[in-house]
Amino acid sequence: MPVRPASVPHSNRPAPSTQFADNSEVRSALAWFARNLAWINEQQSRLTEIPAPPFQEAQRAAAVKLLLASSGLEVQIDKTGNVIGELRGTNEKEMVVLSAHLDTVFPPSTEIKVRHDRDRLLAPGISDNGTGLAALIAIARACQESHIKPRRTILFVADVGEEGEGNLRGMRALIEAYKPKLKAVIVLDGSGTDHVTTKALASRRLEATINGPGGHSWSDFGMPNPINALVRASVRFINTKVPAAPRTTFNIGQIEGGTSINSIPYEAKLKVDIRSESEDELTKLESALRECIAAGVRDEMESSRERSKGKLEWKVELLGSRPGGELPVNSPLLAALRSADEFVGNQSRVERSSTDANVPLAHGIDAISIGAGGTGGGAHSLQEWYEPAGREMGLKRALLVLLGVSGLAEGKAR
Ligand SMILES: [Zn+2]
Repeated sequence: MPVRPASVPHSNRPAPSTQFADNSEVRSALAWFARNLAWINEQQSRLTEIPAPPFQEAQRAAAVKLLLASSGLEVQIDKTGNVIGELRGTNEKEMVVLSAHLDTVFPPSTEIKVRHDRDRLLAPGISDNGTGLAALIAIARACQESHIKPRRTILFVADVGEEGEGNLRGMRALIEAYKPKLKAVIVLDGSGTDHVTTKALASRRLEATINGPGGHSWSDFGMPNPINALVRASVRFINTKVPAAPRTTFNIGQIEGGTSINSIPYEAKLKVDIRSESEDELTKLESALRECIAAGVRDEMESSRERSKGKLEWKVELLGSRPGGELPVNSPLLAALRSADEFVGNQSRVERSSTDANVPLAHGIDAISIGAGGTGGGAHSLQEWYEPAGREMGLKRALLVLLGVSGLAEGKAR
């Protein structure tokens, strides 16, 4: 959602990117990208073709671990499944994170083969988050091969559980483990260079379940039907009025139930994602869902002819909840981003969105989420595509923001 651009904070210190422009290691890292574009595209395709459905990221994680390790980083996989490559700084008590999520929204059965159509790469997950992962690996390698020595330790992280019911579990574990040392988190998610997410959109994911005795479609006709009740409830819920400001949205994303066409089902389920700029509106919408499910069940019970034969039960469970938060406009991280934008000749607008950055922001740790360059579209669909043209700018921008907050070891900045 487009929001007014934030004002550029003034600082007396030289802008980091200007300061780095004279540094030979940084110059060499910036130049690394142009020479390695074909390799970066290749890694993106290769990683995209390794399936990484929610909770099944291990195979892709292993491949990312190998890539990070082969560039000379010390790499481990934590018990949540996050891949963590460390580039030690001179000040090991302070850390910054560059991350990209490993997981996709696609179920294991999805066929993923990257197709080429002129300058486009097409495959589910190619942009979200093939682009972010490719950039993570490229930036780590550019730093290593250019002998960059940061002041704060940099963690290159490919994390699990960003999408759907992953509920940001990878980022939550990472923040839990490193919180006292963490100074900034930069999340690479998808393509583009046109935005910077500094505001975390709060969201909740809910599952409604309705159960009944079930029965035969003919002989038990009139028995209350959980699918009927769910449909009645859904019609009520989708008519709920939500405000345009603060922007509030809902989506029925999955619906399931029943065992066969000629059986009255014993169960029906509905998954709903609700989002809002306001926690209050979220709470209201969650109550509305509960009321609608209760009303749908009541309607079905009342209209079923043989209520005595069976009763419906219902429940609404919270599958996940993403906290809100906001990066202060005068944060050094935002200043580093603005200065990187200036250096590469880019303009970006501030956005509010639901990303891995929600977690650090909710803990008061500076965090942003940005695209990793090039252009992409059709995220979360089977028609997803990515066009690498112009990706170099996104890679340089991300590298400069990272070094802007990590700083360089003393004596290295010339
Ligand atoms: Zn993503």
